[in-house]
Amino acid sequence: RDLETARNTPELLERHRLATGGKVICRFPPEPNGFLHIGHAKSMFLNFGYAQKENGICILRYDDTNPEAEREEFIKSIEESVRWLGYEPAKITFTSDYFDQLYELAVELIKRDKAYVCHLKPDEISQYREKKQDSPWRNRPIEESLRLFEDMKFGKFEEGAAILRMKIDMQHPNPCMQDPIAYRIRYKRHPHSGDKWCIYPSYDFAHCIVDSLEWITHSLCTLEFEIRRDSYYWLLAALDLYRPFVWEFSRLVVTHTVVSKRKLTFLVDKGYVRGWDDPRMPTLMGLRRRGFPPEALRKFCASVGVTRGDNLIGFHKLENACRTCLDPQVLRRMCVLEPLKIIIENLPEDHVEWLQVPNHPKDERKGNHTSPFTKEVFIEKSDFRLQDERDFFGLAPGKTVLLRYAYPIKAKDIKWSAEDPSKIEFIVASYDPDKTQKPKGVLHWVASTKFSTSVEVRLYNNLFLSEQPGFIKGDAWLNDINPESEIVKEKALLEYDAAKNIHPGDIFQFERLGFFCCDKDSTIPTRIVFNRTVTLKGSR
Ligand code: ATP
Ligand code: MG
Ligand code: MG
Repeated sequence: RDLETARNTPELLERHRLATGGKVICRFPPEPNGFLHIGHAKSMFLNFGYAQKENGICILRYDDTNPEAEREEFIKSIEESVRWLGYEPAKITFTSDYFDQLYELAVELIKRDKAYVCHLKPDEISQYREKKQDSPWRNRPIEESLRLFEDMKFGKFEEGAAILRMKIDMQHPNPCMQDPIAYRIRYKRHPHSGDKWCIYPSYDFAHCIVDSLEWITHSLCTLEFEIRRDSYYWLLAALDLYRPFVWEFSRLVVTHTVVSKRKLTFLVDKGYVRGWDDPRMPTLMGLRRRGFPPEALRKFCASVGVTRGDNLIGFHKLENACRTCLDPQVLRRMCVLEPLKIIIENLPEDHVEWLQVPNHPKDERKGNHTSPFTKEVFIEKSDFRLQDERDFFGLAPGKTVLLRYAYPIKAKDIKWSAEDPSKIEFIVASYDPDKTQKPKGVLHWVASTKFSTSVEVRLYNNLFLSEQPGFIKGDAWLNDINPESEIVKEKALLEYDAAKNIHPGDIFQFERLGFFCCDKDSTIPTRIVFNRTVTLKGSR
């Protein structure tokens, strides 16, 4: 379908051409009632992406017709998310900027006998729709509706005592055409227009008109709006306004998470997560905090494609896109999540050797950094077993492993804790200065605590256990939250060089463990927190 299918008159097409120079104009229209999520990334990819491809422009429009749930905090975070993802809006507008014009157009609609003030309550409206019966107020005189609509505006009614409805067709098979609501009364301060209005336009009234006033050429939206397309075109025709081309695509759903703002709000408000930008949240600010680069999200959206078919995508695809982006860029360092102390018996007490360690094993241009090798070192607890086994590549009594970029060590003895005899205090090992030896097991490690830094590391798993928590009926979706969605290692040790000059947002690969991003909860230099962005290999 092309622009012509919107059936504009030649005159309107000409006015559109004069106003826009024939450019493609798209818009991304979030309601500021929450943070943007991964589904919005797809919508932006499509709207900004299509405009870019066609040398057109894309507007960021806050669709703020509902004062109840909208907040300044959300308005700010949305713009931040859009820019972070790499999109530059040609302009930023608010539906509320058009409240005056929308009001005038509503008056015009009444004058054309295509809208009326109605006093039915919401449940009565549904009943009348079911029976395909006209509202008793449908045929009241135009003058009366004009006067009552003005009364609505001046606050002479209680909330719910009057609404403005479009006069379309109560017999229409599409329920969205059965006299949809155009205006309702809300005595609520609006985050943008303040106390100026106590009547607010509905989505059905405002969205198409603002699209038209902004000369949007392509109005792209998700499939649930498809049934509203009839009223979209009806209203613009009723007011002789320019009609954009409307096209619907399927909503993106990612496994093991929810992308409904209502549910995300609930998780935040009830404290299930650390906030809208919790690294487990599918919000763009959450993914950013977790360490996902914006290009990974754009790549992901490109791979997902734009269709009208089902769009359930595995979370692992997002993780794969993230690995692919981070791997070539990010420097390698070593960190031990659960340290086990090793004392190297054949090194002097204050021994320090500054080893040259490559920053990136596959990219020499990234250079080296120095890493101290000391008498006391730490390996991962899980890399030691009392009993060696065939498929175990870690350390065990009498066995030799390589400390990566350093030397082979052999476990000689175990020093058990005096207080708790089931606990190992440290392992005694000997090192072999011959670096040419190649034991099978290669371990990550850090030097003595004099040269390493204690850090907190947060490991993340799926927020929900089942693939489609969004489909779980009622409140049961909350029982599906993964109790191990966040695992905190409070006493991890990070190698010397990584802790130097660290800033929140910095990303490293910790060898063998994955990619990690320094969290905003860090108060450097006293407290450093890392989030695991993604492991090194996918589980699927
Ligand atoms: P929610 O149900 O989470 O409140 P919404 O559609 O009401 O979602 P808006 O802020 O109004 O959220 O959405 C802005 C734009 O992003 C709309 O055009 C909408 O169609 C699109 N969008 C929202 N969620 C998704 C999704 N999961 N996949 C693709 N596009 C989406
Ligand atoms: Mg919504
Ligand atoms: Mg919406």
